Amino acid sequence: MAQDFFHEGELVAVLTTQPLDRLLDYRAPEGGCWLGAFLEVPLGPRRVLGVVWGPGRGDFDPGKVRPATRVLEAAPLREEMRLFLGRAADYTLTPMPAMLRLATRAPDLGAPPAARRVYRLGERAPDRMTDARAKVIAVLEEFGGAAFQLGELAEMAGVGTAVVKGLAKQGAVVEEEAPRDAPYPPLDPDIPGKPLTEAQAGAAETLKRGLRAGSYGATLLRGVTGSGKTEVYLEAVAECLRLNRQALVLLPEIALTGEFLERVEARFGARPAEWHSGITQTERRRAWHMVASGDARLVVGARSALFLPFRELGLIVVDEEHDTSYKQDEGVLYNARDMAVLRASINGAQVILASATPSLESWANAEAGKYARLDLTDRFGPAELPTMRALDMRVEDLPPGRWIGGTLSRAVEERIGRGEQALLFLNRRGYAPVTICRACGHQIGCPNCDARLVEHRFLRRLMCHQCGETRPIPEACPECKVEGKLAPVGPGVERLAEEAAARFPDARIAVLSSDLYGSARALKAHVAQIAEGGADIVIGTQLVAKGHNFPLLTLVGVIDADLGLQGSDLRAAERTFQLMRQVAGRAGRGEAKGEAMLQTYQPEHPVIRAILSGDEEGFWRAEAEERRAAGVPPYGRMAGIVLSSPNAAEVFDLGAALARADRPLRRIGAQVFGPAPAPIARVRGRHRVRLLVKAAKSAPIQAALAEWVAQVKVPPNVRLAIDIDPQSF
Ligand code: ADP
Ligand code: ZN
Repeated sequence: MAQDFFHEGELVAVLTTQPLDRLLDYRAPEGGCWLGAFLEVPLGPRRVLGVVWGPGRGDFDPGKVRPATRVLEAAPLREEMRLFLGRAADYTLTPMPAMLRLATRAPDLGAPPAARRVYRLGERAPDRMTDARAKVIAVLEEFGGAAFQLGELAEMAGVGTAVVKGLAKQGAVVEEEAPRDAPYPPLDPDIPGKPLTEAQAGAAETLKRGLRAGSYGATLLRGVTGSGKTEVYLEAVAECLRLNRQALVLLPEIALTGEFLERVEARFGARPAEWHSGITQTERRRAWHMVASGDARLVVGARSALFLPFRELGLIVVDEEHDTSYKQDEGVLYNARDMAVLRASINGAQVILASATPSLESWANAEAGKYARLDLTDRFGPAELPTMRALDMRVEDLPPGRWIGGTLSRAVEERIGRGEQALLFLNRRGYAPVTICRACGHQIGCPNCDARLVEHRFLRRLMCHQCGETRPIPEACPECKVEGKLAPVGPGVERLAEEAAARFPDARIAVLSSDLYGSARALKAHVAQIAEGGADIVIGTQLVAKGHNFPLLTLVGVIDADLGLQGSDLRAAERTFQLMRQVAGRAGRGEAKGEAMLQTYQPEHPVIRAILSGDEEGFWRAEAEERRAAGVPPYGRMAGIVLSSPNAAEVFDLGAALARADRPLRRIGAQVFGPAPAPIARVRGRHRVRLLVKAAKSAPIQAALAEWVAQVKVPPNVRLAIDIDPQSF
């Protein structure tokens, strides 16, 4: 058996979060340390965070090996977790330190004791109220009794830390020792859930049996929207809790957590731990440590929750598993759905991939027998699937500059006349995607990116959706300087809202678009208000496609169903199919029957026809055939190499050099395409080129890629990112 405790002075190999390409030897500190223990170790003049990864290798001069400074309080990283990080690093070709950073997102790990002081609202009013002070008080009041760390509070309030300190001196804010993390209230799996239908009960029983077996298993839980997938997997969560193992539910969108947490609370009598970008540092610290100690039994979170140090993980649910936001596209490039399967397999846990419109990857894995598959084909109760129809825009009456056709318009009127809700879906944020000068034809672009600036009338700015650059809407054309000739071209949701307001003057209109909300909380609140009937017409981007439940909604109108079908991306058909089916699924989740209308200029397009007919198996089979013929995922392996630099020539030269040095790839029968400009050729002032590598499914692509890129010297200006299983190809 591997050694798992090291006495003081013994050599240990430590993985740190610093960008080094190897483990470092240290001497175990006073009191010794366990394998997996978190240590503070000296590195040059600094002290850094590390984890005991194994016995020291003794390849340094033993006299020079320094002792670790101290063992940190956190529970040691368990063997499964260390294995998981190692395999995930190998798969994604990520250096181990970067992987470890994902797994150590507890804000207090290795922090000096001073960082453990927190600030909360005091009893006294400030002696003198200033703008800055008022901002701090407002933040504290918004969050009720919550306590924050100094830097965090100052940042949220948008003031300097001195303002908070000043308030603390007066007693308007109380500074105190961070309390020990309170345990989460216990969850009771035996509170009776909703009585399940026969189909639901059958699916739940199968999942529960898998959990009782106590070993790894993956299941694709496929069910039309509203069929009760959530009810079913909550039964699996209950079983997991009864078996005394921890469960993790991943959601693609934090705006969905509010509704979900309420369902959990109704089912298990208490709220679970949350983990996503919208929680405070205090909650983050609490969740991380309680997950490690096993006190947090259920975590609901975003993809990064996969890297929490669970003590005895028994179940991972990936809800809306097809959702593209599971792919992390900056830093460590990983797909949380795939990593969930990996983690479950290492932990001997079950993984449930739930979706109404699964990814082709998961569908193919189920076909191949790698995943079990459970199908829920009917909506629960009286709710029926919406009827779907195409509206042929070649014959609809539609004046220029308008986007809501006659048929759709009449349908909306009818629904709101009956007190029901209608959703108009357009997957474009802002007012208009293009601003053009009618004098010279110039289109306003982003100075940093290869992208057009999008008018956001609500914010009164032009904005780049790639880099976030914004500027006031100019009076004169930046090119020809003629004034008053700039005009918006094409619709965004804001412009659609304007049209709807003119057409339906008495209707209450709500726009749901991620950029219109200051915070995730504000968005959650608005969604809840709409669900309760706070609007007659909802106008939304892809945000509304994701699992929100609007019981009064009976009509979905897709303004431009063709939008996703352009371009050469091989995944475009799958995406459009999923998105349209998801959006349509928002209709008719209550008592009244729903209807979905797709405005399209190509009603005979095979994808549009598949969407309308609802023949999902047929669609997937056809898609699978095409991908198989092209040798691309899920029937082949792909990787993207993106090179970026402020200097265009530099990236093209390096790309060309890589393309020439393809011998390690040819050895495994892989092909290289490119270099070509990346899908977005310039972002934040950096030019980007991409090479695509395609290999057979069984080819050892990671090793070949590593050898391949190691051959070229990457200039300091250039960033090289390897993206295994890229989202677009
Ligand atoms: P999905 O996750 O497949 O979209 P949900 O689990 O959210 O479906 O169920 C859709 C709606 O139907 C929810 O409001 C849910 O509470 C309700 N529902 C589903 N199954 C049952 C059941 N067996 N008894 C009562 N309500 C149910
Ligand atoms: Zn930009």
